[in-house]
Amino acid sequence: MPAAAADSIEVHNPATGALIETIPVDSPQAVAATVQRVRANQPEWEAMGIEGRYHWLGKLRDWLLDNEQRVLDTMQAETGKVRADAGNEPGYLADLINFYGTRAAGFIGEEGVRPHTPLLASKKLRIQYRPHPVVGIISPWNFPLILSLGDSIPALQAGCAVVVKPSELTPLGVAEVIEAWKHEIGGPDVFDCVQGVGETGGALVYEVDFIQFTGSDRTGRKVMARAAETLTPVSLELGGKDPMIVLADADLDRAANAAAWGGMMNSGQICMSVERIYVEEPAYDAFVDKLTAEVGGLRQGSDDASSPKDVGAMTSPKQTAIVEDHVSDALASGARALTGGKRVEGPGDYFEPTVLVDVDHSMKVMREETFGPVVGVMKVRDAEEALQLANDSRYGLSGSVFGERERAEQVARRVECGAINVNDVLVNYFAMDVPMGGWKQSGIGTRHGEGGIKKYCRSESLVITRFGGKREPTWYPYTKGRRRLLAPISRFFGARDWRRKLGLRR
Ligand code: NAD
Repeated sequence: MPAAAADSIEVHNPATGALIETIPVDSPQAVAATVQRVRANQPEWEAMGIEGRYHWLGKLRDWLLDNEQRVLDTMQAETGKVRADAGNEPGYLADLINFYGTRAAGFIGEEGVRPHTPLLASKKLRIQYRPHPVVGIISPWNFPLILSLGDSIPALQAGCAVVVKPSELTPLGVAEVIEAWKHEIGGPDVFDCVQGVGETGGALVYEVDFIQFTGSDRTGRKVMARAAETLTPVSLELGGKDPMIVLADADLDRAANAAAWGGMMNSGQICMSVERIYVEEPAYDAFVDKLTAEVGGLRQGSDDASSPKDVGAMTSPKQTAIVEDHVSDALASGARALTGGKRVEGPGDYFEPTVLVDVDHSMKVMREETFGPVVGVMKVRDAEEALQLANDSRYGLSGSVFGERERAEQVARRVECGAINVNDVLVNYFAMDVPMGGWKQSGIGTRHGEGGIKKYCRSESLVITRFGGKREPTWYPYTKGRRRLLAPISRFFGARDWRRKLGLRR
């Protein structure tokens, strides 16, 4: 079991239990020194401009693609994932580098703005976006590269220096890539990582100018409270309890296959995992049969390229205990496991892919984030009841609706969450064109899209006088004559709908 000592961390392979490596923990002083070093180099990085920075990020993309298997080996060992679940991370990062590299100018390039009133006719209005000098990224263990480097990429592209604090359970893959940035790629010294548990994360919050945190809502609250002490802005990507709604007119084979993959992929250790399913009554029996058959047939265990499996290990022993607790709580309250339902005997840390029925919202498995290979399925009268239950959650990260396209789309629009998929699952994460972020207690802020890079910048408004005399009419001295002239003008433009009066469009 991964253990964190005061000055070192043991990293284990959850698929076998074997010790991989022991790494040193960074003290708060070491965190401060790292931030200070990259901070000193950030102005030069910013001065390179969008194209100059894309040049270096392009080298990182090429390195990731050239060294994909090496990176996957490290990450698979520290997470216990099956190869297929690990395999999408380098490709996603390469896509993200290209996405922001080619769109950054449109997203954060300087903007000109037309004044809203003729009273500002002498002014030129511009907005420039300047990076937060140092961004701290604190990340979890379920997708170590995507959730550390994926947030670093837009920050670096924006001109920030970045320091990552990966999860203590999965520190190796991130460290390997950042070492390569420094020593194999020869990238500017604006990108580094620090290692440790919560204390190291807390030290990072104090030192940086912006915090991007991904993890549980419990830790998110602590990070936000600490950031409040220095008024450091935060973006929080937190947990989820994502619902799937299956309408009676859905393609039930597609819906069941999607539920199996969306619920069991990465052993269900995905913030956007399908965790709870609401099925309209006429489709319930057939859907449950198909889902149970699909999940029951999944192959579980440690794999490599020559012997593929479907479902890997649990990465965090603490999480396995939570999964076990949710499932036993449900079974004790009358739920039935149609397949799975228990921890697998070692070696390694595994929980059987599980389908629960006869569940309800009094059970933890339908209310709290399970974050394991478990789905609970409920029969509902109609779409209205499905929506009421889907929205009965403190979380609102993402979700999915399956059914005839137009009807499913109408239902999807009413699910309270940051992103919703119609007739698919999880795919919104790869649609990086649109924002991804949580409603309610699933987060604050978004990643991806324009907002995913703009958040790493501060806007600076430039109000530039193009022409003017020795003084403006509003300056001293205040005279009766000027007041008589200015008051009606300002009343006209300030208080009346003058555009409509003059026959202009709003
Ligand atoms: P966690 O909250 O336990 O830890 C996340 C990170 O925070 C780790 O690096 C940890 O060392 C660090 N940390 C712990 N205490 C800290 C403190 N006091 N100050 C600063 N940093 C501290 O989460 P986890 O168990 O690693 O990950 C699982 C959680 O992450 C789940 O809730 C999951 O839903 C969520 N998650 C969310 C998204 C998303 O995009 N919304 C993506 C993946 C995972």
